Amino acid sequence: MLEEVEEPNIGLLEKEIAIPGSRSEPSVAGNSSSRNSDLDLTSFDKVLSPRFRELSGASQWTDWQWQMSNRIRSVEELSEYFPSLECGADIVAASGKFPMAITPYYASLVRKLDESDPVFMMSIPRDKELWNPPFLREDPLEEERYMPVPGLVHRYTDRVLLIATSACAMYCRYCTRKRMTGMRESCISSSRIAKTVEYLSNHPEVRDVVISGGDPLTMSTGNLEKILAAVRAVKTVDIIRIGTKTPVTLPFRITDELVAMLKKYHPLWINTHFNHPREITKESAEACGKLVDSGIPVGNQSVLLKGVNDGTDVMEELLRGLVRMRVRPYYLFQCDLVAGVEHFRTPLSRGVEIMERLRGRLSGIAIPTFVVDMPHGGGKVPVLPNYVVSVSPTHTVLRNANGMLVSYPEPYAEISGLGELGPMRESPSVWDLASGNASAIKPAIPDGHTRQVRAFPVDGK
Ligand code: SF4
Repeated sequence: MLEEVEEPNIGLLEKEIAIPGSRSEPSVAGNSSSRNSDLDLTSFDKVLSPRFRELSGASQWTDWQWQMSNRIRSVEELSEYFPSLECGADIVAASGKFPMAITPYYASLVRKLDESDPVFMMSIPRDKELWNPPFLREDPLEEERYMPVPGLVHRYTDRVLLIATSACAMYCRYCTRKRMTGMRESCISSSRIAKTVEYLSNHPEVRDVVISGGDPLTMSTGNLEKILAAVRAVKTVDIIRIGTKTPVTLPFRITDELVAMLKKYHPLWINTHFNHPREITKESAEACGKLVDSGIPVGNQSVLLKGVNDGTDVMEELLRGLVRMRVRPYYLFQCDLVAGVEHFRTPLSRGVEIMERLRGRLSGIAIPTFVVDMPHGGGKVPVLPNYVVSVSPTHTVLRNANGMLVSYPEPYAEISGLGELGPMRESPSVWDLASGNASAIKPAIPDGHTRQVRAFPVDGK
């Protein structure tokens, strides 16, 4: 039985620890004129303003706190960075309901100021966020129902999720926690950390603590360490995991100082959140490389997003890029039923079809598990193409990505008492495979060739 939630989610995070670069801190923008020679401005300077080029040339460009302080937070700032973008009533209304924040670094990845651009889609507010069919909810996963301590979600027996902050470097327009992220940028208080530790100490079945948010790496290294040290002191906790998008939106956050601190709390794992190959840059690769070099396994959780990554080619490019960075594709999530994200949702069958085609193209280490986080707090379920066609007491009929059907016999000792196997058929049916009277049905394509399948067009890809 879970204990009662003490408080509603909004307001559970007390502003005890300042977020570097939050509005309460003074900005340090524009106080240097030296240029960052690594930054290639040629391909996007048509859409970005002199203001942006001035900031991107600052010596602090690679300073993560400078990036946090210079996030685009208002429609006026958005206009300064993208003067040719029409910041009409739609953007004003959407950013009024769901906060906006974009690091200058992430903004520099925009190439076109319209919905054909995946970075634009994921970061710029649109009025589509304000329209909701009736089945969308603010908290479809019912996280708040599973909070025995405010900010601590205990849904699965051996795992908990700790919401350590409501702040992120960038507010993804499709975020599952749109109800809280950025509404009031604040971090977990010392008293909440103490309550969390007390709960973990009283629940030795919890072996795995996921520190999430918001984005925990928007906190200062010292304040993040307070949480890690407290959780690590609970003897029954085996693994600590951190969920962070900073390698994607703020790669400069992965500093030597941070990595040296994280290494003290092994076994520690990190899951990051790349959705599109555009996000894989020299900077993000360096950030992931630092983490992996320090012995931290890095996984990736993507969300399947309409118009962003809902095509096999773009997904394959993303997955190959992740593996090259030594980041293991972990989950591909079906977009949650969150209020404000209907325009990002794809049919569930789209994900299944993409997964099926990927299986024929990529090795297993590059293929994530496609999951649906079920509404009503049902938890994650993997959704797979159906490779088991039929099952009989003696044989299972399996199908591969090319459509080839194969009869797989049970161990001889299991089936020898079930009667004689008949002669092998030359033109078998699925029943012949299931009953062991044939061993395979091959599609009419040459060996080594891949089945041609219908392609989903993705605009602009
Ligand atoms: S970084 Fe994560 S928590 Fe923050 S807005 Fe993006 S998806 Fe949501």
